[in-house]
Amino acid sequence: MRAALTTAYAFGVRIDLHTHSRASDGTESPGELVRAAAAAGLDVVALTDHDTAEGWPEAERAAREIGIELVRGMEISARHDGHGVHLLAYLPDPTYPPLLAALQLVLDGRTARLPAMLERLRGLGIAIEHEDVRRVAGDAVATGRPHVADALIGLGVVVDRKEAFSRYLNPGRPAYAKRYAAPLEEMLGVVAEAGGVTVIAHPWGRHGLDRPDEATLAELAANGLTGIEVDHQDHDAATRDRLRAIARNLGLVVTGSSDYHGTGKVDHELGCNTTAPEEYHRLLARAAEAALAAGRGVPVLTAG
Ligand SMILES: [Zn+2]
Ligand SMILES: [Zn+2]
Repeated sequence: MRAALTTAYAFGVRIDLHTHSRASDGTESPGELVRAAAAAGLDVVALTDHDTAEGWPEAERAAREIGIELVRGMEISARHDGHGVHLLAYLPDPTYPPLLAALQLVLDGRTARLPAMLERLRGLGIAIEHEDVRRVAGDAVATGRPHVADALIGLGVVVDRKEAFSRYLNPGRPAYAKRYAAPLEEMLGVVAEAGGVTVIAHPWGRHGLDRPDEATLAELAANGLTGIEVDHQDHDAATRDRLRAIARNLGLVVTGSSDYHGTGKVDHELGCNTTAPEEYHRLLARAAEAALAAGRGVPVLTAG
């Protein structure tokens, strides 16, 4: 059964709008992830793999089977003012050619930097081969740093992904290699044309910088940005308060999410942060508007 976007959501409904499956760098299949979300007591879950909608069909089948509401999303690797920004896109038409082309550029860039990273690791005396990464990447549509991290764990070089990133793979660390990311403003437009809405993921969580700042967020909001992810494990309480105030000033939707990766990321359990039902409602209303403005039918959610 499919639910229209106008469903009223009661208070107490638990909504998690940011999760990853093995279609990117999570450790569960999309179906397993949706089942885990239901088992964790969530009523609504969004699947937001990096730069791909590959996991959607399997997640939708599972959501229908078990009766949980699934929001189809993705987390797009974008760039703004020389900084990486993760852009969550919800309910876009994944077959819209400009969106597909933009995602393909990002995916190609991710795969293309792998040889450079492996070369650097070998330069540090670590015997790592492409095959080691391919083996752990499994079904992923693109191989990225988390897979290199998993390969390093497998080789006994590090104990977990966290150590792999902090010692080797983060920007500024010796095995880091730059890669292509989509221009942020352009992606706001492309996702809107695809009938979707956009939310900046963990806006102040990645670099320890309060950037994008309020002025920049105001510009982005004027260019169609719908919301910001305020409640995320990378934000402390003070950061959340400041971001919540900015969202209120700018009329941005406030989301909260786990950024769950299965066992691939500790302290990001399903539902550890959630989105308030009224904010979710606003997000869906904006999605309906975006779809109509793009000359598309209102997107429907998969519901059990
Ligand atoms: Zn992210
Ligand atoms: Zn994420």
